Amino acid sequence: MSTPQQARALLAALRARQTAMVRLLEKFVRAESPTDLKPAVDRFGALVGAEWRRRGAAVKVLRQRHAGNHLRVVWHGHGASSERGQILVLGHLDTVYDAGTLRTMPFRVARGRAFGPGAFDMKGGLVIALFAAEALRDAGLRPSRPVVFLWNSDEETGSATSRAIIEREARRSAAVFVLEPAAGADGRLKTRRKGIGAAELLVTGRSAHAGQDPPQNGVNAIHELALQLARIAQFNDPRRGTTIAPTQITGGTRSNVIPAAARVVLDLRAERPADMRKLERQLKSLRPILRGAKIELRGGFSRPPLERTASAALFARARSAARLLGLAIGETSTGGGSDGNFTAALGVPTLDGLGAVGEDPLDGEPVIGEIARVVGHREEHGRRPLHGEEGLRLVEGQFDLGRHRERVHERDERGAASLA
Ligand SMILES: [Zn+2]
Repeated sequence: MSTPQQARALLAALRARQTAMVRLLEKFVRAESPTDLKPAVDRFGALVGAEWRRRGAAVKVLRQRHAGNHLRVVWHGHGASSERGQILVLGHLDTVYDAGTLRTMPFRVARGRAFGPGAFDMKGGLVIALFAAEALRDAGLRPSRPVVFLWNSDEETGSATSRAIIEREARRSAAVFVLEPAAGADGRLKTRRKGIGAAELLVTGRSAHAGQDPPQNGVNAIHELALQLARIAQFNDPRRGTTIAPTQITGGTRSNVIPAAARVVLDLRAERPADMRKLERQLKSLRPILRGAKIELRGGFSRPPLERTASAALFARARSAARLLGLAIGETSTGGGSDGNFTAALGVPTLDGLGAVGEDPLDGEPVIGEIARVVGHREEHGRRPLHGEEGLRLVEGQFDLGRHRERVHERDERGAASLA
């Protein structure tokens, strides 16, 4: 968009399509797509692919044997500009919600919000991409570079089958935009994300009857694990944003048996690659404390951080583009990771949080649903609001921490601090 007039015309065109957007969101949400159910993810992918084909884009299905298929959608600009690189837009087809969730969390719109599994993260983002491309096309504004939309099927479980594809596309790209939800009700973009990972500490002891004399005949794996956890807690470095948190623990068999095995899962987060390596070194330096105990460490960091150096220039451009629309955009850092972490780590400029706007779930409450709402964007200070200016905003409801404990994602981001 080059002039304020064009920008406002685009906004008006999108506003006029709001009902169609909500209708498409409903269609998307009703096609449940839990990561681990390939037929369902593939069905949803086919639906999304059809919407793009209908708008004239080239859609390629990247077939996967076990995981859901990924989609590569190409939307051509007007220039033969391959040497300058493409624009890459990342989004995911999968959600953390099990098949059948719709029965207890049906799609609905109430008080200007739409509810439903995956509405916020990130079917709302997929809808935004479709309508954004359509609005640009209708306005005769074609991008000067080809735009590749990559919709993967396994983001919620760590992008095991799509990471290499994402990285290959990123290396060909001048910029990467990620349609993960924005932060907060005011829709801040995510310009920094922590590197994340998970480690597992397995402790082996020796079982014995707890009443045996002397009880030292056994080696208590739970006791060893507790001592290790006290050490591990010291690896936290809040000043540098490094955190290590035990998130799952198991051990023992009976109330009167010294346990021979215990295990803990550790959530790992750090802001810089050097801090990731340091934490991994610290974990590897752990040695058994009780005589006869054995410990084994598995896992580690799986997503590098998205550092602000990767996002700063794009954010500045996004902010000035938003000003043309009379909108103020803020930025935020977050503890959660996304596929944007992979692309930023390759040195490709990456901007995240361009998807749905909403609110984070509250702590410790059961599932109530996902919500989309239509409300006005926050106006820039000192600017007159544009008449009737509205955007689609999506709000995610609470979810069951127990059921989704393996899945590290957006909802860990409540502690996000504003940089703006
Ligand atoms: Zn997501």
